[in-house]
Amino acid sequence: MIPEPKANSSPLIWVIAVPSPLHQVFEYLPLSATQVTPQPGARVKVPFAGRDVIGIFLEERRSELTTTTALKRVETLLDKEVPLLGLDQLQLLQWLSNYYLIPQGEALQLGLATAERKGRPTWTAEPDHIALKSGTETIDRIPTRASKQRAAAQFIGEQTVPIASLTKAGFSASVISALVKSGVAEKKLANQHAYPPQSTVTLTEVQHQICATLKAKMTGFTPHLLEGVTGSGKTEVYIECIKEVVAKSRQALVIIPEIGLTPQTKRRFEAALGCEVPLIHSGLTEAERARTWAMARSGAAQVVLGTRSSVFCSFRALGLVVVDEEHDPSFRQQDHPRYSARDVAVKRAQICNCPIILGSATPSLESIANCDRGRYQHHALTQRPHGSKLPDISLIDTRGLALRSGLSEEAIDQIRCTVEKDEQALLFINRRGFAHSLQCEDCGWVADCQNCDSSMAVHHSPPHLSCHYCNTKISAPTYCQQCNSNRLTSRGIGTEQLEILMNRHFSKTPVFRIDSDNIKNIETLSQALQAIARAESAILLGTQMLSKGHDFPRVTCVVVVDADSLLHSPDFRAEERLLQLLVQVSGRAGRAFLPGKVLIQTRSPDHPMMQQLVQRSYSDQARALLVRRGVLRLPPKGAIGLIRSDSKQERDAINFLDAVREQLPIHDEVRLIGPMPTLMTRRANMYRYQIVVHAQTRKAVHSLLEAARDIGSQQKLGRKVSWFVEIDPTETL
Ligand code: ADP
Ligand code: ZN
Ligand code: ZN
Repeated sequence: MIPEPKANSSPLIWVIAVPSPLHQVFEYLPLSATQVTPQPGARVKVPFAGRDVIGIFLEERRSELTTTTALKRVETLLDKEVPLLGLDQLQLLQWLSNYYLIPQGEALQLGLATAERKGRPTWTAEPDHIALKSGTETIDRIPTRASKQRAAAQFIGEQTVPIASLTKAGFSASVISALVKSGVAEKKLANQHAYPPQSTVTLTEVQHQICATLKAKMTGFTPHLLEGVTGSGKTEVYIECIKEVVAKSRQALVIIPEIGLTPQTKRRFEAALGCEVPLIHSGLTEAERARTWAMARSGAAQVVLGTRSSVFCSFRALGLVVVDEEHDPSFRQQDHPRYSARDVAVKRAQICNCPIILGSATPSLESIANCDRGRYQHHALTQRPHGSKLPDISLIDTRGLALRSGLSEEAIDQIRCTVEKDEQALLFINRRGFAHSLQCEDCGWVADCQNCDSSMAVHHSPPHLSCHYCNTKISAPTYCQQCNSNRLTSRGIGTEQLEILMNRHFSKTPVFRIDSDNIKNIETLSQALQAIARAESAILLGTQMLSKGHDFPRVTCVVVVDADSLLHSPDFRAEERLLQLLVQVSGRAGRAFLPGKVLIQTRSPDHPMMQQLVQRSYSDQARALLVRRGVLRLPPKGAIGLIRSDSKQERDAINFLDAVREQLPIHDEVRLIGPMPTLMTRRANMYRYQIVVHAQTRKAVHSLLEAARDIGSQQKLGRKVSWFVEIDPTETL
């Protein structure tokens, strides 16, 4: 007879999530010197694969092993009192790990600032601002001989200013500390209530009503979709709701899609709210980011503004989440770890039991479907405030027209009229560089990228060919590589070419080109935007960068140079994307008091989408698209997933997927398509293949992907190819 195991005979261990690509957590022996059990979310230093790493403590329990000889011991407990990961973050990130099939150890890292992941002590909340304790009245209490202190106090005035700005103005550290010592001034952590709110708008009746409805629901989890046409004042609605939340000592998180939008959005929120709104985005230094995290965690930041990754930030008391331009594809992280920041934000609000507002002029079909299902509350702003009108949209049929650098005479005339009135014109084109490709007129040869299934774009300043997929750059050939002819022509218009044309035609008007070639970072973008705001007449031309959220009050004419390049894509989301893009670009016109017009150049003016764009609202068109998705059972009326592999050896990429597919359980509800090559099979010398998983329910797709992940992890080839599984992918080609 086998004896019963003695109770509590197995050793006590700590379960630690270690950052590693393995889909498991690990057992360690507890820290030897301590009797305390850490709280879940505390950071620990542990040995792992031959080095020390920072992991997250999850729980203490009896081991499933009977002997502990193989187990290593936790070396240090970094967060002895309060764990750095809050309970809500822990819950969110464990959900993230499970839903997006990301290893738990990697997911949990997302809840820490970069410095914290390296085990640094958390950012010490060193007060970096100063204010007068009882305002300027106290200046008289400073003895007249202490003239420096008086001057410093005058400098501070009624504001809370960064200590650094005092130092910059020439006040020494001893003057500052004397002010603090004498009790006239005090150091503060954040720039709270630094500015009396500067801008207050009077809400329109409709805005007011929506705010009233929203404010009545500011406690508890409710998702709201604010569908408001471009320039209808969605941001004013967010601001009102944030004020309400902040007044109750809770915090708000505002997530926006583009780092380029952060400076002006920050200014606008700070002016309206009268408090510092710290940022989280990839352009910050580690120290800047640590500062925002610490402010959010301590509650010193009432509002945090950020891009995607800010959804994981820790808060003392999160009371509202806002996701602006919620339809924007940039909310989807396209490399590991793959997740949708919008969807994670909804989960976060649910866990924190607070409301979330998703706002957009062109909401995603997913969010519209969620309203239809009664999961989200729908609010509509169908008009711009105070009579400013939505622009008129008209099509220019370019068939048979002689175009100049892609522009019709009609478009050029309209641009001329616009700048002559001291207004601004905006030209949207989907391609940077001078031209799409270089081709031989005699034999048809095209200069292709050596590493990708793609032609190389022609650039003029400086002259070269460039692959926009793998970034390879070469000097432009002067002869055809196939027949030696020197008759090489560039095809397809890019931003550089349009810029040259505009400068030639409108030599007295400033032309601003906004694309990733000449706007390298957030500072250059800010400078360009400020110059545009100062200019009277101007021509703005650029790529997607220009289409997003920016407010250009003087733009009254928008030209979409080539709508067709976007029209014929096999992606099932192509129409939704195109529609959103065109409506958003159009929305840049006539945002202030000047009326606007939009001209769309197309060779397919009879295409139903083009017709509807002119005749129907986004809302109607989106609902029509949703019906079609329903027929095809495509998201959000069905679910899809991907199993993808990339490899230098094409055979390996295919063999890996074949092996996974062979072992996948058969599931009546699930359809598998592939392995098949992706649309652009070779990128940067890697061959890309995939299996598309399609089912009616997400649950079915998810369980299949889970199986695929486990099977993939067992494959020997899995170590040679780079592979992943993805739920709700947005790029399926
Ligand atoms: P959206 O976020 O919907 O694109 P915004 O909030 O940026 O719209 O508003 C567009 C413009 O209209 C901004 O310049 C804003 O200040 C102005 N605006 C919005 N609501 C009002 C209002 N009630 N009164 C005056 N101006 C307003
Ligand atoms: Zn040739
Ligand atoms: Zn390439």
